[in-house]
Amino acid sequence: MSQVFPDNQYMYDEMVGLYEEEKFRSAIKIGKELLERARVMNDKASERKSLEVLSYASYFIVDYISAMNYIIEFSKVIEEDGNISELIKTYNVFISLYTRQGDYEEALNYLKKVEILAKNHHLKLEEVKNENNYGFFYNTTKSFEMAVPHLERAVELAATYRFYDLLTIIQGNLALSYLRTNQIEKSKMNLDQVFLALKPGSSRFSRAEAYMYRGEIYAIEGDYLEAINQVKASKVISLKHGYIAELAEATRILSEIYVKTGDFEKAYYELKDYIEYSDILSEDAKQGAVAKLKAQYDMNKKNTETDLLKEQYAILEEQNRKIQEQANELERLNEVLARQNDDLHQSAIEDYLTGVYNRKYFTLKLREEFSIAKEHNRNLAAIIMDIDHFKKINDTYGHLVGDEIIKHISGICEESLDSDSIIGRFGGDEFMVLMIDADIDDAEEKANEFISSLAYEPLVIDKKPIPVTLSIGVADNRYLSPRTSEEMIHIADQGLYLAKDLGRNRCCRYVPDEEEK
Ligand code: GH3
Ligand code: MG
Repeated sequence: MSQVFPDNQYMYDEMVGLYEEEKFRSAIKIGKELLERARVMNDKASERKSLEVLSYASYFIVDYISAMNYIIEFSKVIEEDGNISELIKTYNVFISLYTRQGDYEEALNYLKKVEILAKNHHLKLEEVKNENNYGFFYNTTKSFEMAVPHLERAVELAATYRFYDLLTIIQGNLALSYLRTNQIEKSKMNLDQVFLALKPGSSRFSRAEAYMYRGEIYAIEGDYLEAINQVKASKVISLKHGYIAELAEATRILSEIYVKTGDFEKAYYELKDYIEYSDILSEDAKQGAVAKLKAQYDMNKKNTETDLLKEQYAILEEQNRKIQEQANELERLNEVLARQNDDLHQSAIEDYLTGVYNRKYFTLKLREEFSIAKEHNRNLAAIIMDIDHFKKINDTYGHLVGDEIIKHISGICEESLDSDSIIGRFGGDEFMVLMIDADIDDAEEKANEFISSLAYEPLVIDKKPIPVTLSIGVADNRYLSPRTSEEMIHIADQGLYLAKDLGRNRCCRYVPDEEEK
């Protein structure tokens, strides 16, 4: 094999150094220069290395189109003047690209090819990388159970052959598989080792991932503050270096953690960012699909398969079919899980009994709407209502009927509200309504509508109507000039007390005494 020309040695080393330090954008810059020089000078070794670095580095900054183009050029060069381990290198890039772009069948084809080549040529390093790539593939396709044995074997081999840098990467992947298969202690152990092995100022990619997983573990353990810190640290690294896929994932995780802490506002903004990053990613995937077609076309023309590989094809296809079946099953399970997740999210904002907003979420909306109304000088009205003598109703008819009454009343109110109003259950037998662009008179009118609807349509059980009444207080953001949403609610609450005092089954607005004013 040819040698690097002495004139290019410095650039060559600099490019490789930058790449190893995961400074991908700088590595690409130098790589392009070196590639041009190498071609002019016919320096084959530099040409090969720069194409290799360019494709990998482009892959890591999610520029899949460039990655695909460079890898095609790389495979052309090594066809003329290359060896088996370089062929494997090109295959490994294809594996990564196909995996990221969701062409799993193609990715598995190449994984299998590399597996066979590495075994037959006794290439230890390639064998370990292949096990790790299988693991990465199954992690990406969310078949975490299937990733575990490959990655465990990769760790074992990497330790035996002392491939320590690779070991750190594998342990990062294994930490994720363990995390997703609920083997938290094992995941933690691997992460600790990853953090020990990370070199200061480099390994940014592994670091971004490790912080993210550690954040998730803290969240599982209930230490949300630390969880948020860790995931944020991951985001900072990914944002700085353009690891969009990791950035999207960390953002999604952070949003979930905020939901768990009840901070729905922050959760919302993270989710919004997540959608934005995902859009960027799917745009990249689309570009990648175009590049893929081009690659397939080029590869078909060249036909680089060895005879050995062709023999293995039948076996391969059978295995692929089985794997596909398992993948389908896993996908189905994933969908079920996703649905359960949605339900959980729903239960974080909804009242379990009535389906209207719960107190926490309603309060958040209230603050938001109050400040929006203030900013735009618009009206906002509030209604607060409480069922009369509900304890007695429970005592007379039982708690189950009591529950039905609560549902009945929330139903009646919901039906009579327009889409600009929101309703929440505030406590046991207490509800609140917010009316946007409405004032205290509108609120009073709506409250009286509730009272009469309830009188006309009581809950009927065993053909017997159960008479129930409501006491209601109203307020808006102008009457008595409340400065905050809490003050506005306090004024409505005072109205409610007055309604109770005056004999219940009515709506009142609070009128302060002369000396109070
Ligand atoms: P008042 O007219 O002064 O409001 O009298 P009250 O009996 O309704 O008194 P209060 O509002 O203080 O009591 C509310 C009662 O509602 C207390 C509790 O037993 C009952 N309650 C709270 N949550 C639920 C629930 O989810 N289901 C049922 N059935 N009852 C509930
Ligand atoms: Mg009550």
